[in-house]
Formats: sequence, C-alpha cells, structure tokens
Amino acid sequence: MYPDNQEELIEEVAQKYEDYHNPGLAKMLKFAGLGVEWTAEGCYIYDADGNPYLDCLGGYGVFSLGHRHPKVVEAVKAQLEKMPLASKLFFNKPLADLCEKLAEVAPGDLQYSFLCNSGTEAVEGALKIARKATGRRKFVSTMGGFHGKTMGALSATGRAKFKDAFLPLIEEFVHVPYDDIAAMQEVIDDDTAGVIIEPIQGEGGIIIPSDNYLIDLRQICTDKGALLIVDEVQTGLGRTGAMFAVNHYGVKPDIMTLAKALGGGVIPTGAFMATTDIWEKGFGDNPLVHTSTFGGNPLACQAALATIRVIQEEGLIENAKARGQQMLEGLKQVQQRHSQTLCSVRGRGLMIGVEFVQDDVGELVIAGLVKRGVIAAYTLNNPRVMRFEPPLIINEMQVNHAVNIFDEAVAETVEILASLE
Ligand code: PLP
Repeated sequence: MYPDNQEELIEEVAQKYEDYHNPGLAKMLKFAGLGVEWTAEGCYIYDADGNPYLDCLGGYGVFSLGHRHPKVVEAVKAQLEKMPLASKLFFNKPLADLCEKLAEVAPGDLQYSFLCNSGTEAVEGALKIARKATGRRKFVSTMGGFHGKTMGALSATGRAKFKDAFLPLIEEFVHVPYDDIAAMQEVIDDDTAGVIIEPIQGEGGIIIPSDNYLIDLRQICTDKGALLIVDEVQTGLGRTGAMFAVNHYGVKPDIMTLAKALGGGVIPTGAFMATTDIWEKGFGDNPLVHTSTFGGNPLACQAALATIRVIQEEGLIENAKARGQQMLEGLKQVQQRHSQTLCSVRGRGLMIGVEFVQDDVGELVIAGLVKRGVIAAYTLNNPRVMRFEPPLIINEMQVNHAVNIFDEAVAETVEILASLE
C-alpha cells in the first residue's frame, strides 16, 4: 500500500512542485520537514512511510469529522454510483434536501441557500447579494480579517501582504479594528450595504471579541439598514462548541457564509444563506443573476447532508466543547510553565490559539511537534499565533497527547534558544 522508498518519492514530488507548480512553496514544504501525505483516517494523517501524524490543524477547519468519516464516504459513494454531477436542467434532489437542512440548523431566519464550492466563492456571492438587496455600495470589514483571496473576498480581507499587488480591488471597502464597536459606529452609514465579520477571527490569530461586540454590531446594522454578513467559513458547524459561533451570542445574521467543514472533509463545498426578504430582492427578478456550474452538485450535497447528520447524531458539538475545554486548560498549564515564551492561550471549543512573545519561535515549536508526530500551523494573518483546530471527533487521550507533545516541543525550543545566547 505504501511506496518502496519515501526519500525518492519526496524528491520526485518536490521536483515536480519546483518545475511545474510553485518553486517557493516547494522550498517552504521541504523546510517544514514533512514528507508526502499518503493516506488518512480519523484524527491521523499517514506519510508515505506509514508514519502517523495526529492532525491538530484539521485542514484549517475542513476536517471537523476527521479524515474519511465512513458515513460521509458511504453517502458520497452511493451518489457516485447514481449521478455525481448535475445536469442543471432537471430538479436536483440532494440540493433541495441540503437547502432544507441548512435552513433547519442555521441561526435566526436564514431561509435560503446558494451552494458553491469554496469559502471565497461563498463570500463573493454574499457581497453581491448584499449590494443587490440594499442598492447600496459600501462595505465594512475588519483589520486582520480573512475572507478569501478572489478579488471581491480579497477586498474584504484585512492584510496588505495579500492585497497590495492586486490593487485596485473593490474600492468601497472600509477596514476598522476588530472588536472596536466605536470604530464600527463611526463608519457604518446610509450607504453601507453590509458589514462582513468573522465571529472569531481565525487567520487573524484566533481573536475572540468581547461578549457584546456582535450583539451591538447587530443593532448598529439594523439601525442603519446595513446587512450583517457573518462569515462562518471557519467557525461554522460545531467548531466553537455551538453549531454556529453566532449562536453563543444569540445574534441573527442577515447573510451567512459557510464552507470548509461543510463537505465533511470529503468533497469541497460552500454556501451562502440569507433571509427571505434579501433573497427576494437578490434573485426575485432574475433567478440566474448568480450561478455556479459545479455549485450544489449531488456529490457535494450528499457529503454535506451526511456531515450535518453526523455532527448531530454523534454529539460532535458537545465533544468540541468538552475536548476544547480540556485542551485549553492543558495548554494554559504549558503557558504557565513557559510564560517567557508564551504570552496567551485563548479559544472557544476546538478553535484554540497559542501566542508566542516573539516572531520565529513558533516555527521551531511547530518543527518540534512535527518531529514528534503532531501537526499544527500558524494563523495566516498573524504568524505569532499557532492554532490548534483538531477534528471534533478527537478523544481525551489524543488531547492529552497533543498537549504533552506541545509541552516537550516548547521546552526543547527554549533550550535551543538559550544555547544560542
Ligand atoms: N472565510 C474565512 C473565515 C476563512 O477562514 C477562509 C479560509 O481560510 C475563507 C473565507 C476562504 O475560504 P477558501 O480558502 O475555501 O476560499
């Protein structure tokens, strides 16, 4: 099942990355010291030598059900035997069933869904429908926020490094500091179509806002007639210990975006949802105003339906809460032991960030984890923060193991740095 010689395989694959894909990325992956991933199951990824890695990154939120969850795989296989992609001329039953299911589990009055293939596409659709429904132009988003890298979503993303080479983007975007309600109050006005916000900033460094932030933001949007677009691409579907992160605050969004975990770690899929009123204004005069060839394909819809069923039937929200609490407490103890190196541990459910006092230390710790068979990574917009986002199926023993290995990797890093002084 595994190839004969992993070293040769790594060389071959890295060379092809270098010659045909992305030489810079080839260098980065080689530096990280990981080989070629070969197979995966549950909370583990196996390299081409069959070495297991406990997956504490979870595909940046994709593998909430772990890898190859049997119920998702089974649902997808059954659909594959019938009709994988849709003709788009007939009614598509898996699509209809999924839209009904999403309306059932979504917060507030989100009734209608458009299905797409990724997070950035979900954001594109959300922005378009907000403009059409309100007849307004302006958007507000937050510094450090991450909403994707296509032109519209990139306009919402709050990090210059990803944007500068592509200017001008959508110009009517204003960025304000996250968790600063006064700044929001100042910029939301009668021309604001929508405010796009992550309930917890993921790539910004696992930033959890103050308890009233989203509640007050909801009120300001209502007062000004601006739409509240909640980006649950990373936080959605149980990750934070609630089906959606806005549920922690009882906030009802006007529009919501989803992706990542929605496909159960098996088929890529995304969605944006909105209220009946917004949908009528958005699609009422032209049902084809926004379309996607592959969006809502039967394979993806079956994967998503099975995913929601598994989350509900296997108690994954409760597990995210309990294991998240265990992991948070464990990591806080590690922080206490290494308070010169770690300045903060924070999180909600199984979306946890560990902040280092210095740049570059995290890189060594991550290498130490990998060496010991545990995978984790930075947050994209804040390299000082390492995130733990394991599958929601993770058990007590695996959480303990991840925390102990993190402890060892930090201790080793501290020693290495001291020896260099
Ligand atoms: N929105 C949020 C909150 C995300 O975290 C991400 C990806 O990390 C995106 C949107 C973009 O999703 P994708 O990479 O599927 O385009």
